This record gives sequence, C-alpha cells and structure tokens, in this order.
Amino acid sequence: MSSRGGCLAGAARAWFNHAVLLNEVEYARPESVAEALELLGANDNARALAGGQTLVNVMKQRLASPDVLVDLADLEELTPITVAEDGSLELGAMATLSDVIDSAEVRERRPILAEVASRIADVQVRNRGTVGGNVCSNDPTNHLPPLMVAAGATMTIAGQGGTRTVSAEDFFLGVYMTAVTPGELLTRVSVPAAGGTGDGFYSVTVGNEGTGIVNVAATVNGEARIAIGCVSAVPVLVTSRPDDDSVREAMRGAGLDPPSDVHGSAEYRRHLAEVLAVRAVAHARSSG
Ligand SMILES: Cc1cc2nc3c(=O)[nH]c(=O)nc-3n(C[C@H](O)[C@H](O)[C@H](O)COP(=O)(O)OP(=O)(O)OC[C@H]3O[C@@H](n4cnc5c(N)ncnc54)[C@H](O)[C@@H]3O)c2cc1C
Repeated sequence: MSSRGGCLAGAARAWFNHAVLLNEVEYARPESVAEALELLGANDNARALAGGQTLVNVMKQRLASPDVLVDLADLEELTPITVAEDGSLELGAMATLSDVIDSAEVRERRPILAEVASRIADVQVRNRGTVGGNVCSNDPTNHLPPLMVAAGATMTIAGQGGTRTVSAEDFFLGVYMTAVTPGELLTRVSVPAAGGTGDGFYSVTVGNEGTGIVNVAATVNGEARIAIGCVSAVPVLVTSRPDDDSVREAMRGAGLDPPSDVHGSAEYRRHLAEVLAVRAVAHARSSG
C-alpha cells in the first residue's frame, strides 16, 4: 500500500511539475530606465515585460523561457504621449493601445494611429498591450509595424552605452526580431504630425477582431508610401504615384511572395494586398 501510495505521489508530483503554467523565472520591477538596462545587461536571457499579452502566452507555450523578467510597469518615463518641438508625436513605449486611442494629441496630429489601435483585438488586449510590445514582438500580423513604416516613424532605443534612433524601415528585421538587441530597450516611437499627409489603413482579418490575413497602411504626400503586413516576415514597403492604376502596377511589380496557410493561399493574399492597397491609397488621397 505504502509503495503504491509513494508511486502515486511521485506521479502526481511529476504531473504537477509538468502542468505549471510557467517555468521558474526571476522577476524584477525596476523604477528607472537606467535600472532596467542594468538588469537586462546583467543576464543574456533576461526579457523586458510590457503588457505581457504576447510574452506570457509564448512562455506558457514554452516557446520562450527567459531566466529573468524585467517588468517595465513602473517606468512612468515610458508612458506619456507628448508632442516634440517639431510637432511630431512621441509615443512612450509603455503607452497602451487604449492610451493611443484616448490621446487628444494623437487625434489632433495623426488620427490614423488611434483609428488603427481601436481595431486591434478587444478592449482587454488594448488596455494591457503597449505600443512598444506591439512593435518589439514584430508578429507579422500585427497592425502597428506596417503603419509605422508607412508613416515614416523613428524608434529610439536605449542601451547602457546611450541611445540611438532607427527608422521604422530598418527596425523590423524578421519574425519576432527587431533592431532592439539583448540588453536594450525601445523607449519611444516618434511619428511625424500628418501636416498635409493623408493616411489610410485597410485590413482583412479572421473574424471581426481576429488575426490579420493582410494589412495595408498607406500615406500620400505627393507620392504614395504603401506598407503591407502579413505577406512577409517584415512589412514590405512599396512606393508609387498615388492614382489607382499606378498603385496596381506598383503592387504587381513588387514581387510579393506571401505565405499560404489555413486562412488564405499565397495567391489570395497577393490579390488582397493589391485591392487593399488601392483602397488605402484612395482613402489617404482624400484625407490629406
Ligand atoms: C488575443 C490577442 C489578440 C491580438 N490581436 C492583435 C491584432 O489583431 N493586431 C495587433 O497588432 N496585435 C494583436 N495582439 C497583440 C497585442 O496588441 C500586443 O501588442 C502584443 O501582445 C504585445 O504587447 P505587450 O505590451 O503585451 O508586450 P509583451 O507581451 O509584454 O512583450 C512582447 C515582446 O516585446 C518585448 N518588449 C516589450 N516592450 C519592450 C520595450 N520597450 N523594449 C524592448 N522590448 C520590449 C518583450 O520582451 C517581448 O519579447 C493580440 C494579442 C492577443 C493576446
């Protein structure tokens, strides 16, 4: 009896160990960016934790297993949305998608940011998910990467050696890979005020609030800048004259090579990209 009981207890322990949601991980909650950078620099396998909407899920699936989580929640210097001297918007990396939607400065200077943020997932995700987390995770189906590329945004990255800026075009390097290297933090995203630039964003998603099948962001200021998401590991930038025929021609010449999956074939995604690009540019033309 006792040996059987011991066996069962061992099995239960094994099951319990296997069933815990997360592997053991250290947790730190710094009070300044400098302290956060020190913590990130001290351990190669430390990861920044923003809203946790992606990171905690991938940890639960054992796709990522950081040794240390450096929670950015108390870094008030990373939350404000402000206006720079040149009139551009400075979005703190820890500004949530809901902060972007509610910001009077965003509504006044670059309303497309609020419009697109309001279409992302549901209110719970928007209340927790941050601008920094959205671009740093660089999930190819996320809304903000193509929007930032089309808008000509600039990312500020801090490390222990100082800060540097990277254009959105150079920021996205691959699936879940960006110009932020281990030990660094994205601190803010700067987006030029619209001025005379018109913006458009069209997407086709799985269901109303679901994953993107194709996302297209466009700006028009003389020429059209079209950034396409979900068709490659990083947003694809295409420039064109802003009339419908030129946009179609530019999209056909762009050599898009999208993936096929359960939500759509490569051919369907290529077709969607062209249709959505024409619509996004037409919207941008009329809103500039
Ligand atoms: C159910 C669901 C549906 C979703 N649907 C969509 C959608 O349709 N479109 C869309 O765009 N998004 C979608 N998202 C993503 C969501 O909008 C968040 O942007 C995303 O989850 C990451 O934001 P976060 O703040 O939670 O980051 P975290 O999950 O905390 O972090 C994500 C990654 O970024 C890194 N990171 C975060 N902040 C920084 C920083 N300042 N510097 C350096 N690295 C940093 C982390 O280390 C981690 O690797 C969805 C999420 C969920 C859970």
